[in-house]
Amino acid sequence: MSRHQISRDRMVRDQLLPRGIRDKAVLAAMASVPRHLFVEEGLIPSAYEDMPLPIGFGQTISQPYIVALMTQLLEVSPGMRVLEIGTGSGYQAAILDAMGLDVYSVERVRELHFRTSTFFMRHKFRNIRLKLADGTLGWPEAGPFDRIIITAGGPEIPAPLLEQLKEPGILLLPLGADRRTQNLVRVIREEGEVRQETLAPVAFVDLVGRHGWS
Ligand code: SAH
Repeated sequence: MSRHQISRDRMVRDQLLPRGIRDKAVLAAMASVPRHLFVEEGLIPSAYEDMPLPIGFGQTISQPYIVALMTQLLEVSPGMRVLEIGTGSGYQAAILDAMGLDVYSVERVRELHFRTSTFFMRHKFRNIRLKLADGTLGWPEAGPFDRIIITAGGPEIPAPLLEQLKEPGILLLPLGADRRTQNLVRVIREEGEVRQETLAPVAFVDLVGRHGWS
């Protein structure tokens, strides 16, 4: 077994299981996606540690537990069409791809978009579609989506994303009136209604855009 596989199995055992990540498909994806390839070379030794890491341009790859928690809260099944806002390193998108989903991901920072596009081509992630744009406007031509996940924190629920959410559908986002302190909020659309659940406190980088921070 490779040393990275050992680190991943340890990450699942020590960081995810004790905190209530129980979804077998999520655990399998977290144990298989090579997170160390999504960080800068100098940070590879820390790739499986219990923390977010810098990816350049003031952005971060989320802590493994937060990626697993958000993925579990999305309640996905294979074949669903999922939109992610905030491609960043591409790690969250790769986890969703490993679960057999049809993944669309939008990033607003040009350098991160091109870097991750090249990375996905080189490593043959062929089912993840990427776009350089303000993700608070969604991806109308590719929608509607069964699931939408925002991996940056904003002050409001972007209206275009709600419009691009199917019924039944789930939209998951960090929401906060203050920058840097948010709660994970899950918006559930079903049976003609939209309801909102406020979950754990989280700390994400800013969602910047028309329906985010300026
Ligand atoms: N999901 C990423 C986490 C990246 S951090 C990963 O797995 O690595 C959040 C990302 O959201 C940053 O790259 C940031 O540039 C991006 N972002 C912020 N506002 C955005 C917007 N309006 N549209 C698209 N991306 C945005």
